[in-house]
Amino acid sequence: MMDEGVRADEARYVMQTYKRAPVEFVRGDGALLFDQEGKEYLDLLGGISVASVGHCHPRVVEAIRAQAGELLHVSNLFYTAPMVELAKRLSESSLGGKVFFVNSGTEANECAIKIARKAARARGVEEPQIVSFASDFHGRSYGSLSATPGLAENPDFGPMLPGFRSVPVDDADALREAIDANTAAVLIEPIQGEAGVFPVADETLLAARHACDEVGALLIFDEIQTGIGRTGSLWAYEQGPVRPDVITTAKALGGGTAIGACIGNPVTGEILGAGDHGSTFAAGPVAASAALAVLGLVDDPVLLRRVRSLGAAMMERLAEMDGVSEVRGRGLMIGVGLEAGIDAGELNASLLEKGLVANAPRPDSLRLLPPFVLTDEQSDRALALIADCLDGYHPNESN
Ligand code: PLP
Repeated sequence: MMDEGVRADEARYVMQTYKRAPVEFVRGDGALLFDQEGKEYLDLLGGISVASVGHCHPRVVEAIRAQAGELLHVSNLFYTAPMVELAKRLSESSLGGKVFFVNSGTEANECAIKIARKAARARGVEEPQIVSFASDFHGRSYGSLSATPGLAENPDFGPMLPGFRSVPVDDADALREAIDANTAAVLIEPIQGEAGVFPVADETLLAARHACDEVGALLIFDEIQTGIGRTGSLWAYEQGPVRPDVITTAKALGGGTAIGACIGNPVTGEILGAGDHGSTFAAGPVAASAALAVLGLVDDPVLLRRVRSLGAAMMERLAEMDGVSEVRGRGLMIGVGLEAGIDAGELNASLLEKGLVANAPRPDSLRLLPPFVLTDEQSDRALALIADCLDGYHPNESN
């Protein structure tokens, strides 16, 4: 039961941009969440791919506590060791170039857009274009929103920025046609998360890489949801056929603190110079220390193997359930397509009532983004709850 006072105050004082589920969480531990009455929930959403090492992982909590007692903030006008160490670690674990820090996924993409436009202008392009997939999600500030066609169409917030165009997802021919001498970058999610977990085909990724190379455009992967081990490798691109020129990350990077990064290769990491970009809070000592603790846990072959094997086992069992039409994804980034007549929002609400947190990004799909510390027993329990709820739609077959 929700505390009615909290619900009423939220309605009175918080801008009503979210349709919140009627639960107030007060504590998290690993893959478990607890509401204000002490009811336990299995968390298969992980704060939308943020709590990947689990809620309140002791090493993350300790890193935050230790740093909070030393120094909280000085701005980016000065050096701080956690920020520099984190940049080194991110660079060396990915594209090998320089890093720009931010506070969110949206801002990481803003930085990538700036890099792409500046690089295009340097090669004489007067009207640089960024190409994305029509069903991509890149964020909600004006640059990243303009690269998110589904939201950019909303006339309430126009005009969007010029210089953005989109093609249908996974249409390699349309993508090739859209890329020309004015293209500054192709900015895409290698696996679309908010759209409902749709991996982009290798053929399309290869087409994007080749077309970008032909015209001198940058290939930018938004790894905000797919990165930090979510797909079973530190970055999703490692399991695909191409290497991007820039990647953006946020979400799980900070283990629950607000931090993101735009990571370049040895060329793209040099494009922004003094005064080109900035952020007051980015990679402050506490968030950077938390991120170092997260990377220390996730950049581990044993844990990444566990993400791949647990993900594959869960996907296999989900695919066998009555009511499931398809299962999409990689590692522990899982989209569950539902048969016609099963409303994902309704199913998600029933699961929540039974103590399982998931998400319905579209009316025909559930999305699961569990913490990597989910145990076999917790996974069994979660799958049994999903099967049980789905059986409600097929009463005759289950009896
Ligand atoms: N890009 C992707 C792929 C995302 O999934 C998200 C958030 O869901 C964003 C960008 C925006 O990140 P943030 O909400 O941290 O600004």
